Amino acid sequence: MAKQIVGPEIERLVQLLAKLPGLGPRSARKAALALIKKREDLLVPLNAAMTTAIERIVICGLCGNVDTMAPCAVCRDEARDPSVLIVVEDVGDLWALERAGVMKARYHVLGGHISPLDGVGPDALNIPSLIERAGDEAIKEVILALNATVEGQSTAHYLTELLVDKSVTVTRLAQGVPIGGELDYLDEGTLAAAIKSRKQV
Ligand code: ZN
Repeated sequence: MAKQIVGPEIERLVQLLAKLPGLGPRSARKAALALIKKREDLLVPLNAAMTTAIERIVICGLCGNVDTMAPCAVCRDEARDPSVLIVVEDVGDLWALERAGVMKARYHVLGGHISPLDGVGPDALNIPSLIERAGDEAIKEVILALNATVEGQSTAHYLTELLVDKSVTVTRLAQGVPIGGELDYLDEGTLAAAIKSRKQV
């Protein structure tokens, strides 16, 4: 049995930090130690920021984004193209697309992907609200910006079937060679997808 060298309070802090994505027990111990050492500069302000987050952060009832107001800032932004809806799996994907800044459209966050192995069926996702929104005559195009994983793509396929009788154009992200990518370094799946989705020049 590992020898207990810290008190239960610090152990609890480490255990909670270790639940964060990308942090294993080792990184969690380092993070906990950094927080404890920088009590005034880090631990106290982090505690205040988390308290504010607990009190004020809400999930947008329209799109599923997180913000301090509902509808969220993206849904309230009238400068966005009201005819395009971008469907993403998670809020992190919405943020990534916003950082890329290529389209000023609105979003719909599914809250994950269909995964029978993990017991996640269509009912567990924000699919009914998507179908309802796609039925709005202002919407002309639904972009399925789902992950290029087996689950992401089968979810995209499922949604395409559901959207077929709506008067919207359903599109998917192109798959293939990343900008600056050398063919030699690509995995076979990416290379195969790039060949399949080739375009006439
Ligand atoms: Zn929203």
